[in-house]
Amino acid sequence: MRIFVPKAKDAAETRTPLSPESARKLIRLGFSVSAEAGHGLPSGYVDEIFAAAGVELISDPAAGRAAADVIFSIEKPSPAELDQMGKDTLFLGLLDPFNRKDLVQAAATAGIRAVSMEMIPRTTLAQKMDVLSSQANLAGYFAVIRAADRLNKILPMMMTPAGTIAPSKVFIIGVGVAGLQAIATAKRLGSRVFAFDTRPVVEEQVKSLGAKFVKIDLGETGQTEQGYARELTPEQIKLQQEGMAKICSESDIVITTAKLFGRPAPLLVTEEMIGRMQPGSIIVDLAAETGGNVAGTIPDQEIMTDNGVMIIGVSKLENLVPQHASQMIAANMANFVEHFWDQESEVLNLDPNDEIVTGCLLTQDGKIIHEQFK
Ligand code: NAD
Repeated sequence: MRIFVPKAKDAAETRTPLSPESARKLIRLGFSVSAEAGHGLPSGYVDEIFAAAGVELISDPAAGRAAADVIFSIEKPSPAELDQMGKDTLFLGLLDPFNRKDLVQAAATAGIRAVSMEMIPRTTLAQKMDVLSSQANLAGYFAVIRAADRLNKILPMMMTPAGTIAPSKVFIIGVGVAGLQAIATAKRLGSRVFAFDTRPVVEEQVKSLGAKFVKIDLGETGQTEQGYARELTPEQIKLQQEGMAKICSESDIVITTAKLFGRPAPLLVTEEMIGRMQPGSIIVDLAAETGGNVAGTIPDQEIMTDNGVMIIGVSKLENLVPQHASQMIAANMANFVEHFWDQESEVLNLDPNDEIVTGCLLTQDGKIIHEQFK
């Protein structure tokens, strides 16, 4: 069975879903692996490393697609690219299905079996394939590094003969995978860390990392079966904004990661709250791509407000650490394939009754088969 990995066309997409380690693993399992020449360069993987691992490098992506049984891609396929794939090709990618229903339909029409890696269920068994977690971890880490780099202060306390520097204060809003990693990173760099999330279960996790959990009484909040936050009412959002205003005004860095799966992110840091922040302070909005948690965020830009607060809206911070981001996402995709691979009969057995398959396989036999997108 043949796997093909095309090169990303968008220069901003620095990751590749194939690493030398994942390639070796796939070849050991019995797959033949091909990739478009140069696909790994933005993450620092040169073609020679892949060739040494046994990957065939080809210069014509259309031919690569046509010959493939399975395609790994971070970028979404264009309609022309879908047409280049053979019927029943398995496409593993980040399809953003809630916002790209047109693409789901196009994949169905082209007879492709499209897997949306974002839809992998949040179960213990599927954790090794969970691209949202693997990338959010890196984004959470890098949000702190980027903010620290832009801040006109240092993060740790420093006692010197010239005087004592107080530690900087970091406030993390939303403590999922990215938020937890941001807390851990900010703590390691010596700052005082505060955090808030609407899911009550998070308080213990925040405390165990040595940060302080900010208590705001919003009444009933809770979480979904998948562990995602539920949408708040407008009254609850208002209470939350009021509860966070003071702590934002005292923070040197505010990092927002509050997302709602499949829906736009809630606006949590208002213009009024930003107006009360100190000049020089930094906000990183990790929800920029889904509408933003912060008033005035512009995706992929760093902007300065009139009162000197910088709002950083880089939508995929993991793209700024592409080698590790590629290593993780490549492992997630290889783990998916390994999980369903019957090495003896050389068949990828995507059982329609399997919980993981039901969660993430969107199209098959010319139809949209996923319950949420039918
Ligand atoms: P996410 O990216 O959807 O959201 C990030 C965080 O924002 C979440 O913690 C959410 O509760 C929070 N949030 C939403 N609205 C908010 C608001 N108004 N104010 C403050 N915070 C708000 O979530 P995620 O990081 O993908 O993870 C969600 C949960 O799923 C986490 O508990 C995570 O540990 C869990 N998880 C489990 C598995 C598994 O079991 N395999 C895998 C990954 C994640």
